[in-house]
Amino acid sequence: MDHRRQVPRTDRVLADERLRAAAVRLGPALVKQAVITAQQQARDGVIAPGAVADEAVASLPEAAASTRPVINATGVVLHTNLGRASLSAAAVEALTRAAGPTDVEFDLASGQRAQRGRGTLSALRAAVPAGGDVAVVNNGAAALILATTALAAGRDVIISRGEMVEIGDGFRLPELIMSTGARLREVGTTNRTKITDYTDAVGPDTGCILKVHPSNFQVRGFTSSVAVDKLAGLGVPVVVDIGSGLLAPDPLLPDEPDADSTLRAGASLVTASGDKLLGGPQAGLLLGEKSIIERLRRHPLARALRVDKLTLAALEATLVGPLTPTWQALRADPEDLRARAAAIAAAVRDHVEATVVGSDGAVGGGGAPGVSLPGWAIALPEAYAIRLRIGEPAIVGRIERGRCLLDLRCVPADQDQLIIGGILRSV
Ligand SMILES: *Cc1c(COP(=O)(O)O)cnc(C)c1O
Repeated sequence: MDHRRQVPRTDRVLADERLRAAAVRLGPALVKQAVITAQQQARDGVIAPGAVADEAVASLPEAAASTRPVINATGVVLHTNLGRASLSAAAVEALTRAAGPTDVEFDLASGQRAQRGRGTLSALRAAVPAGGDVAVVNNGAAALILATTALAAGRDVIISRGEMVEIGDGFRLPELIMSTGARLREVGTTNRTKITDYTDAVGPDTGCILKVHPSNFQVRGFTSSVAVDKLAGLGVPVVVDIGSGLLAPDPLLPDEPDADSTLRAGASLVTASGDKLLGGPQAGLLLGEKSIIERLRRHPLARALRVDKLTLAALEATLVGPLTPTWQALRADPEDLRARAAAIAAAVRDHVEATVVGSDGAVGGGGAPGVSLPGWAIALPEAYAIRLRIGEPAIVGRIERGRCLLDLRCVPADQDQLIIGGILRSV
């Protein structure tokens, strides 16, 4: 039989009620692509010519964007490849509300232009009173670029050789800083830097001292570094990149610096990420002396690093809203994780070899490398890892010693049923 002649024409298939509705929801291009693919399948004899519309409907994407939601069963709380922090429901609602026209830069009472993101900025100021003033840019790297450009372009940035960090994917902070036109003035050694190394380097050409939290590695043994309070008296601005975005000390992560303590110790400016331990959207936080923040705000580069209204909304809701999923995942109760893992293993054990094993989670996101988070996981045969990843919903576990581990630390309890369903469909 010649299937080609019977394959319905594109405009006829597109007239299908379901596909017309989909074109309104997803846009015509995606719907047309689904139809063209189904027509080709009919020509190839893979489906019947009469099934083209049904096949096109079945193969439509769920949404107009191709990024897919993923269940993070890796046990890594801030998984960079999975988009770092998971937003709270309050933050999600805030960014949905900000999606249309919004008063992000407009005063409704006066009808005049207003400071962009003023609600977010005052929430951040209130969260870290020691900050003096605050600014928000696109990410931690942007915060660092803005700070070093405004304070030290054409001048020296003094930095310890022990703090020359590569943050990931080949990006190195020293190169980032040099790209701004600042000169790096390296002091000390990989393992030891002393106050005299800094005092010897400070001079008329100094733009700032930069301290970078070595967030993704540890140096042990014969080491020393100079605390912020010792640098604060040298007469030049001290910029501290704390990385993680903790606003106040967290007893769970005693080695992570926080913005409040760092500012109290005398830092002129603190930079941090919004989507690490703070648990918010991707953003770069700048907190510090009023006069410095004002310089940053007025720098032409600030406009290029300006943050989106959706980010501002989600960040404010993260600052004032309920405990974040990040906070909760870090503190997940091991006994609770074990009980959930046991229930899931029991629900699938008739179909697949499933056991409950101890599993150490991690903070991730290049943070707290020495901290492990004891918990529990469901262990499945390794072949399940790929099947679960390409399933719907996608479930990403961790492969360890020939097994696929599903660690529930970052999985909201109401998604346990989805995991059971995903495993059973992968049998
Ligand atoms: C993560 C990190 C950065 C980069 O922040 P982004 O928000 O990813 O741009 C810079 N410095 C330190 C110390 C970090 O940990």
